[in-house]
Amino acid sequence: MSDERAGVPGAADEAVPGAGDPGTTVESPDDHPGFDDGLDRLWTPHRMVYIGGQDKPADDSRGQCPFCRIPDRSDEDGLVVARGGTAYVVLNLYPYNPGHLMVVPYRHVSDYTDLTEAETVEVAHLTQTAMRVVRAVSGPDGFNLGMNQGAVAGAGIAAHLHQHVVPRWAGDANFLPIVAQTKAVPELLGDTRARLAAAWPGRAAEAGEA
Ligand SMILES: [Zn+2]
Repeated sequence: MSDERAGVPGAADEAVPGAGDPGTTVESPDDHPGFDDGLDRLWTPHRMVYIGGQDKPADDSRGQCPFCRIPDRSDEDGLVVARGGTAYVVLNLYPYNPGHLMVVPYRHVSDYTDLTEAETVEVAHLTQTAMRVVRAVSGPDGFNLGMNQGAVAGAGIAAHLHQHVVPRWAGDANFLPIVAQTKAVPELLGDTRARLAAAWPGRAAEAGEA
């Protein structure tokens, strides 16, 4: 069962194998339960870009890895919200909710057990700070936190560990079908990144943060 079907968006960025990958198929409606299973489902049509496979790495190498390339870009271009010593915080390009962040170690490691002590501690601290910042900026009712370990668990980019921080609002699974159809997603992401970066502790005083 995929994360989306399980109603656990905080545990999913994340690619659904589809048209761009001839080796797999789009989930069939026949696979959905034929009864009300009581689970919310998020309908996110903007994610069809990802489902189409345009941004999927060709393989698991570091050279193909978007999480390895993001830190080399500017904060604005890469949607980077904060940079730590061993890990950074970035907006998800295909968010389930506004402010969907990911905490990512700089190192190209796939498994949580591969993290060093320093990376483990900083990923945890950045996750806590991300929650505080998103709370201060947009006041969500709750969060989903999580890491998908392996493609079978829903990881679209399984080769490079990333921790999701997804703000949740009461009823967000209901209003998303409306707001998700906006054409202004890139601008909204840029605005979101700027607001979160401005609220990040220690960032406001940085020169050139505009
Ligand atoms: Zn990587």
